[in-house]
Amino acid sequence: MSLLVVGSVAYDGIETPFGKTDRILGGSATYISLTSSYFTDDVNLVGVVGKDFAEEDIELFKSKQINLKGLQVDNSGNTFFWKGKYHYDLNNRDTLDTQLNVFEHFDPVIPELYRDAKYIALGNIEPSLQGKVLEQVNNPALVVMDTMNFWIEGTPDALKKTLKSVDLLVINDSEARELADEPNLIKAANKVMEMGPESLIIKKGEHGALLFAGGDIFSAPAYPVIDIFDPTGAGDTFMGGLLGWIAYTDDLSTENLRRAVIMGSVMASFCVEKFGPERLKNLTEKEIFDRYRDFRALSQIPEIS
Ligand code: AMP
Repeated sequence: MSLLVVGSVAYDGIETPFGKTDRILGGSATYISLTSSYFTDDVNLVGVVGKDFAEEDIELFKSKQINLKGLQVDNSGNTFFWKGKYHYDLNNRDTLDTQLNVFEHFDPVIPELYRDAKYIALGNIEPSLQGKVLEQVNNPALVVMDTMNFWIEGTPDALKKTLKSVDLLVINDSEARELADEPNLIKAANKVMEMGPESLIIKKGEHGALLFAGGDIFSAPAYPVIDIFDPTGAGDTFMGGLLGWIAYTDDLSTENLRRAVIMGSVMASFCVEKFGPERLKNLTEKEIFDRYRDFRALSQIPEIS
């Protein structure tokens, strides 16, 4: 089934306790589309890049059959650039630099061909741009959105307006507390769902995720990754695995949403093993499904009699 992905396409500078790179492909839409391409060959990317965007990165998207009709090339400037540094607690990072560049004037125009997409992934970008995307699409079955504290603090009104048209919001625990202005996570989740989204996923970094859907709560474990190298893109990769699975199965039941949360966690656990999106380039179906089984085994709770 068709998946429309909107978000940032970027170059990142990343420093972790294990290594450093000055420039590597990044951005929310990059991670979401590369990841979801493992599950569906109908991934349609909408974003903007600048004059410095490398041909080899275009080729990477093409090699994954990602449709690039909606990827604008703006020759008036450079690609969005973000620089971050992680400390030993890899759940926290410092943003050292954000250069919007061509992103500053980005107007997401959805090609006619993409407007009937059944599933929509709104990667982390300015909330009114996310809203603009929703004005152009026809009746999607599911709209999933990500956001971050930058927008919760900076553009709260635009965020709340866009949230009204979103079906499933994916945020991390500190963002949920901040958005709801409520320290208790369950109460915060309920307050966030009152803002619009019928369902909610709260990511807890290396401690798993909570899914609120159909009146139930599902607690997904985190995979104990031994070789964690760089957490950049883990959140977006989670969303790519989640939506890739949903687009592949075309099933929005609560039970299948649970599978989708685990598939998101599976893909994120691969992402963090190498720098940037490196690990997402050459995964095999066997690796993906083996890790899904590992996840199942990890949270098998024995009966008591
Ligand atoms: P994640 O680690 O999943 O939160 O996502 C990391 C990606 O988000 C990086 O590749 C960055 O290029 C991108 N990013 C960081 N800040 C922003 C922002 N303000 N708007 C859009 N994308 C961003």
